[in-house]
Amino acid sequence: MKTPGSGHCDVAIVGGGMVGASLALALAGTRLRVIVIEAVAAASAAQPSFDERSTALGNGARQILQTLGVWDEIGPQAAPIREIHISDAGHYGFARLDAAEHGLAALGYTVANRQLGAALWRALGRSPGIDVVSPARVVALQPGAEWVQLTIAGDGGEPQMLQARLVVAADGAHSLVKQAAGIASNERDYQQVALVANLATDRSARGIAFERFTATGPLALLPLADGSYTVVWTLTPEVAQSMLAAEDGEFCRTLQHSFGWRAGQIVRVGKRSSYPLSLVSAQRLRAGRVALIGNAAQSLHPVAAQGFNLGLRDAAMLAELIAAADDPGAEELLARFAHQRASDRRGMITFTDQLVTVFSNRRGAAIAARDLGLLLFDLSQPAKRALSRLSWGFGGALPRLSRGLPLQP
Ligand SMILES: Cc1cc2nc3c(=O)[nH]c(=O)nc-3n(C[C@H](O)[C@H](O)[C@H](O)COP(=O)(O)OP(=O)(O)OC[C@H]3O[C@@H](n4cnc5c(N)ncnc54)[C@H](O)[C@@H]3O)c2cc1C
Repeated sequence: MKTPGSGHCDVAIVGGGMVGASLALALAGTRLRVIVIEAVAAASAAQPSFDERSTALGNGARQILQTLGVWDEIGPQAAPIREIHISDAGHYGFARLDAAEHGLAALGYTVANRQLGAALWRALGRSPGIDVVSPARVVALQPGAEWVQLTIAGDGGEPQMLQARLVVAADGAHSLVKQAAGIASNERDYQQVALVANLATDRSARGIAFERFTATGPLALLPLADGSYTVVWTLTPEVAQSMLAAEDGEFCRTLQHSFGWRAGQIVRVGKRSSYPLSLVSAQRLRAGRVALIGNAAQSLHPVAAQGFNLGLRDAAMLAELIAAADDPGAEELLARFAHQRASDRRGMITFTDQLVTVFSNRRGAAIAARDLGLLLFDLSQPAKRALSRLSWGFGGALPRLSRGLPLQP
């Protein structure tokens, strides 16, 4: 563990996962002294943020990563999503989104979390003014009027103390910082598990993503750069267990049966992993000198692939507000942050949660209504345009980084 230097900093970012590392990078080059504390080394196979998953990035997220200077490295390895096919398994509901119809090169891009993590951390290593303490875990937090004191435990040795003007909780859905700051969360357990794996079919993916609503929950196939797919398959916990344990042939056959043949025949599946799904949303985005971003602020169902996209906008807005501040933990700044993020956050939480609810309902009338909704959506160019713009957020001020601008005018 690298020691936290003099014991003081302007901004301590707890969690150097996808969102925390992005915030740190956004603050590089400002006059703020920033320290990132990350529990699991970025290159470790156990890193929970940069794991085997792939992430669908919207154009807004791509723009932020481009402005941060990491897209040039990630872009060549990313798969453009040119079309999205949405369908209701066993029913007639179908809709298709096409990037070209909206004058876009792509609706989004799929990137491997490991590649994104490696690119973010390489960029952090080159950034002036950013210190990284890892592997090291924040184990306690003592709020104060002028400073927040953090207790940091590395592998062995005495815990280190660090005082920060602002502490940013980027430590995921079960954030210790959020709890220690006294911020409560609303939680809804979906009683579903996302099973994730890479797979190959006998046809190349050709930039088409599939979102299919099945009896157990949504099933998404996202194209990967090598022509294969990553699947995010929502299942009940019991079925997920048996699908994790199934031998490859049985897994492919069962998935094929659930998904159908739109992407061709499933011929190979890679390593499988699983994630229990719940909605966890903090009741407030700040308390004293603590601010919440990313999954620490809200952890969403992956149905709409919006969690990281939303978290990245949290990071971009916070960076913009504190970049030139004398005191980055000042109350009025954090109040502005919470205010600026409110409508995007509320909109995305509601949109995602309602999508899960509507498409988990197996009653005949509900199915007929949503299938009609899908068909009407398919005929409505304004509705499609609105959905394709979702990656810039649900409202509120758009961060400068999302517009390709530097943090300060
Ligand atoms: C199956 C699945 C598929 C998804 N697909 C998409 C998608 O396609 N598009 C999309 O936008 N989003 C997607 N998401 C959501 C996305 O993965 C999350 O929104 C994103 O990982 C949040 O990043 P984060 O950095 O806020 O939190 P995390 O990824 O949880 O990272 C938190 C970090 O904090 C560290 N940490 C925790 N506690 C401490 C501590 N006490 N001290 C120091 N460090 C600590 C952890 O080691 C970790 O590195 C998906 C989620 C799931 C489950």
